[in-house]
Amino acid sequence: MSANERDQFGIDPKIIRTQREKIALTEENKEALLRDLFDLIAIDTSNPPGKELQAAELVRSKMASLGANCILQKFAPQRANAICHIPFSQPEDGPCLIFNSHLDVVPSGEGAWTYPPFKPTIIGGRVYGRGACDAKGSLAAMMAAVRLALQAPQNLQGELILTAVAAEETGGLGTQFWLKSRREDLRPSMAIVGEPSGLKPVIAHKGVSRRKLSVRGRSAHSSDPSQGRNAIYPVARLAIFIEELNEKLARRTHPLLGLPLVSANVIRGGVKDNVIPDYCELHMDRRRIPGETRDQFDRELNEWVENMVAMDPSFRCQIEVIGDDKEPVVISPEEPIVRAAVEAIHEVTGQRETPQGFVAATDMSFLVHQGNIPSIILGPGNLAQTHIVDEFVEISHLEQATLIYAYLITRLLGPKRLSG
Ligand SMILES: [Zn+2]
Repeated sequence: MSANERDQFGIDPKIIRTQREKIALTEENKEALLRDLFDLIAIDTSNPPGKELQAAELVRSKMASLGANCILQKFAPQRANAICHIPFSQPEDGPCLIFNSHLDVVPSGEGAWTYPPFKPTIIGGRVYGRGACDAKGSLAAMMAAVRLALQAPQNLQGELILTAVAAEETGGLGTQFWLKSRREDLRPSMAIVGEPSGLKPVIAHKGVSRRKLSVRGRSAHSSDPSQGRNAIYPVARLAIFIEELNEKLARRTHPLLGLPLVSANVIRGGVKDNVIPDYCELHMDRRRIPGETRDQFDRELNEWVENMVAMDPSFRCQIEVIGDDKEPVVISPEEPIVRAAVEAIHEVTGQRETPQGFVAATDMSFLVHQGNIPSIILGPGNLAQTHIVDEFVEISHLEQATLIYAYLITRLLGPKRLSG
């Protein structure tokens, strides 16, 4: 990106490095952080079905009591984002810093939890519970950082917006809804997506496209298969095609994100072991790296269909999109938000991290592609601790994340930087 674009935020990297006012958490801050996380985990926002309204209301009321201007954005029954605006002394003079994290969690599943998923428990310096790591830990740390900023808003400029969004785990409807509502606001913005990145700055993730291909056949008694049309055979061929496609994809790679991938993950078909199946479907998941086009997977599947039709002109199938496609995303490591994050992490942890890629797809994709907002992923906990039984987050990570977010607020919205 050019120096001119960097200047839109008025941030001079040299100045960023000179702001070294120490930020610390009091015992009261630490208690409030844990209380917010406990309150969030205790509200079951398993998605599906979602039902984030109560959690959104909790964030709204907690942030409003601190002085933020908050609204609930309802976009479906029981589903809402909490959007909290914190304008500082001269909002028009500074950029807009967006904190984004999600209220919904994946279902707790059938596995036996040692600690009940919706009764947060502290054991050995960790908070256990569904969403502790993905992503209520990030959200609670962001709320704690907002609290710090509102307690001591010394000369902060611009605006901070906390977006606690719904429906991230099923396609990112919440963030997209907020982005649509924000179309008029063209102020230079940057965003931090709170997801478990191990407190590392993430500037890229893969895109994802999911498809269901289904085949209708004709049933018959299995004593005479020629009377029917077996729907399983073509789908079995498709499964092999997907396995081979995955091997072919390994010829390409991305420096931060590695290989593009594809996998066949659900197969359904057949009714009885003596009936020729008249229906079969396969669900597939394709992970795209930057440079792979939006319709890449559809073209690969169409190629397979054309080959099938070439062999049997009467072959028919149906391809459906599952969920919303997410585009792969990568931003420049020179973006002010990235440089400031590297400095803030160094300040708090002593580690100088290089910006990296993330294996999972997140709302960062929508913020960058639909909102045109330079965004990073940064949050406490690691992906390996998420979507599992006995999900947890380290309390030390939560506290460090809070400090990192707080440093980012003062660095990016801090006293007016020198111009030129
Ligand atoms: Zn998440």
